[in-house]
Amino acid sequence: MDYEAVIGLETHVQLKTRSKMWCGCANAFGAPPNTLVCPVCLGLPGALPVPNEEALRLTALTGLLLHCTLPPRARFDRKSYFYPDMPKNYQITQYDLPSTVNGYVEFEYAGPCHRRGPLGLPMVRITRAHLEEDVGKSLHFERHSGVDFNRAGVPLLEIVSEPDIASPDMAYAYLTALKEILVRGGISDCDMEKGMVRCDVNVSVRPAGTTALGAKIEIKNLNSFSGVRRALEYEIARQVEVLRAGGTLHQSTRRWDDTAGVTEEMRTKEEAHDYRYFPDPDLMPLAPEPAWLEAVRARVVELPLDRKRRFMRDYGLPAGDAEVFKHDVPLGDYFERLAPRARHPKALANWILNNLRARLAAPATAGAPDTPAPDASPETTARPADSAAALAALKFPPEHLLELVALVEEGTLSSSAAQRVFHEMFDTGQAPRAIVERLGLAQVSDTAALEALCDQVLAAHPGPAADYRAGKTAALNFLKGQVMKLSRSKANPALAGEILERKLRS
Ligand code: ADP
Ligand code: ZN
Ligand code: MG
Repeated sequence: MDYEAVIGLETHVQLKTRSKMWCGCANAFGAPPNTLVCPVCLGLPGALPVPNEEALRLTALTGLLLHCTLPPRARFDRKSYFYPDMPKNYQITQYDLPSTVNGYVEFEYAGPCHRRGPLGLPMVRITRAHLEEDVGKSLHFERHSGVDFNRAGVPLLEIVSEPDIASPDMAYAYLTALKEILVRGGISDCDMEKGMVRCDVNVSVRPAGTTALGAKIEIKNLNSFSGVRRALEYEIARQVEVLRAGGTLHQSTRRWDDTAGVTEEMRTKEEAHDYRYFPDPDLMPLAPEPAWLEAVRARVVELPLDRKRRFMRDYGLPAGDAEVFKHDVPLGDYFERLAPRARHPKALANWILNNLRARLAAPATAGAPDTPAPDASPETTARPADSAAALAALKFPPEHLLELVALVEEGTLSSSAAQRVFHEMFDTGQAPRAIVERLGLAQVSDTAALEALCDQVLAAHPGPAADYRAGKTAALNFLKGQVMKLSRSKANPALAGEILERKLRS
């Protein structure tokens, strides 16, 4: 029998706020232990939480970006648990009245999927996204343990998906798309290295083609997308093996051992925690007002996938080009400022993606690299390979790039001469036409001048000329090459070819 996987993810994302969720301590990474703490985030008796309004706004904004509904009333609850990293002995979270519900993420993914969205692409529905607070970090030394509370009280958004994910690869694609939206929306930097995204993975298997859900197994606290994928690959194979051997699976929680590459059981359903949720009496229920929601709505950005599709549609760009402009937003904006004025937006895109991007990526003093920078993997870069600062520091105005492309299109510059002009322009900020003048790079398209050059070449090389007349058409390339050489590469090659052919035929 064939089995299929059913996967739902609970993704915890650190919100990009200056201060923590309930106090004024900095939301920052890397400070010495317990230097970003106060009575509130240390859970000292009598300390009272005050909600961070920016965290509330970022939560609502996430809801809008994920096509969620924002319920008129939301609330904070206490989730009881006793552990050294949680000094209050409860975590403030949202239980039955979360801030956002019922959304979806639609994304590009080529493998099989359970559901498709409005664009016809794979879709994962979002059950809810709720606000909660992070806890401290336990540290274990040789003879003792400690807790660093710098992270306690940092705002977290937990984004819960429906069990719509069909495979480990699709889980990876979903997380990548989700991260892209959150980074683009300014919700979170999603820096994996700093632990800003952590996932609980729920997975079951069932006979392929059936609809009932199998026993859910949860794998806790994965901190990389590739870890999610590997844990799922292992766990799905394990579950299928149990069923094939005639065994049964029970709802349980497991942990992923990244070094050994296996999951191991932590607890079964019988041992599940009773969190004793109840409304937090220290915090007022939330009832977002229309004006407040409008202000959040004004921060909605175009979704990365929409941007990519629009670049393909409006400018006729291939998917690969549009993908780069989706990921590197400032570079895409740079392109968009010029594209409506370009005769061939694709030609402009080539200059930006090949020449300009290579120079932006190269150290300032280096010459012209001939390969563009490789794309950074979505997982390791905090921000997309962002060129905002480099673009702002350019010596030439964007219009000069347009002028350069036009010089090539009108035949004034050969493509190799255009490369030289580009590097000059990049280094000096001088206008392309001025550089062409100064370096004498204009292509010779003057017919009379080219005629003379061609006559000279034909006279100097009677052999190849005769070959051509005898039917060896390849000889034309040699003759054309001689014209280019004689003109020191300034002849318009297409025009030179035409003149030579005409002369050889007559
Ligand atoms: P719990 O009540 O244990 O928190 P939920 O039903 O709220 O469980 O689901 C938690 C997560 O598990 C969600 O992401 C959901 O999509 C996923 N999930 C639920 N049931 C299954 C299942 N049978 N197989 C895989 N994932 C599941
Ligand atoms: Zn504090
Ligand atoms: Mg639940």
